[in-house]
Amino acid sequence: MRRRETRFSGADGVRWRAIAAVLAIALLSLTVRAQTAGQTAAGRTVRTAAGAAIDVLPVHGQVHLLASAGGNAAVQVGPQGVLVVDTMTEALADPLLQAIATLADGKPIRYVVNTHAHPDHTGGNAKIAAAGSQLVAGNFLGQLGAAGARSAFIVAHENVLNALSAPKAGEPALPFAAWPTDTFFQDRKDMYFNGEAVQLIHVPGAHTDGDSLVFFRSSDVICAGDVYVTTSYPRIDLARGGHVNGIIEALNQLVDLVVSEQFTEGGTQVIPGHGRISDELDVVEYRDMMTIVRDRVQDMVKRGLSLDQVTAARPTLDWDTRYGSDRGAWTTALFVEAVFRNVASTSTASR
Ligand SMILES: [Zn+2]
Repeated sequence: MRRRETRFSGADGVRWRAIAAVLAIALLSLTVRAQTAGQTAAGRTVRTAAGAAIDVLPVHGQVHLLASAGGNAAVQVGPQGVLVVDTMTEALADPLLQAIATLADGKPIRYVVNTHAHPDHTGGNAKIAAAGSQLVAGNFLGQLGAAGARSAFIVAHENVLNALSAPKAGEPALPFAAWPTDTFFQDRKDMYFNGEAVQLIHVPGAHTDGDSLVFFRSSDVICAGDVYVTTSYPRIDLARGGHVNGIIEALNQLVDLVVSEQFTEGGTQVIPGHGRISDELDVVEYRDMMTIVRDRVQDMVKRGLSLDQVTAARPTLDWDTRYGSDRGAWTTALFVEAVFRNVASTSTASR
């Protein structure tokens, strides 16, 4: 009898220990999940008094998207601090800082990177950089002086500095504090921050003359700037050296860098200058659209059609419901005209 009791209590003990272990694992996983939700800050929105909103979304690895109606920014957050890609408009600088603070966990902003010079991507440069500090020490700190170290580096292609320091008529003049402090003129600038390689890849003569793709190699995310957008036809800034062939080249480079997970879906994530997070298939479709439109216009120019005739032939018809617009700063007519001017001048030059 005693032996049976002992046996029963032994079996009960095993059962209770098993139940306790299952409960402990369940509790642990709940705790981990709660912490993860807090850290990733999925779906958070920062609202301004004026009614504007910045949505905060995790993308991959250390990179988050900060999305506003006026355009996208991104942040990489890690043990060394925060790297910010693009700074939206000047009006959104304060809510952008608030949105960054929800992810930064008290860590300082070390770098601002600009994909190009337009004011909807550089407007907050001065405020965002001033809120940060440089990652320097020892002799360098002495050379910079206290004031110099109190602001984050601003990194961009040399032509971004040229554009911001010499604005054309109608472009806003940004203060000296908003200008890039660290520029490059080669094809590529390599950085290493928060334990991952970050590459700035210059794509010449595309949306402007100073566009860079920003590639976070471990996080597997690329910020494309305005060479790739999901909300409109690509804007070709003719006054700033933009060209349809450069945009197609930039999209081809992007397609080369992006690796899909399965059946061209998933994998490397692309953050457009405006619009939603994309994968390889999205970029391939956009590249194909841009190439087909360019080829159609090129063919019409070769046949001697005028701009009015090309516009009337509607070379973009297949995509107008998705990307076209009759209003705003970048209409379908302006897009077709820019492609026409690029193609016409190229074919004249090659004659
Ligand atoms: Zn732009």
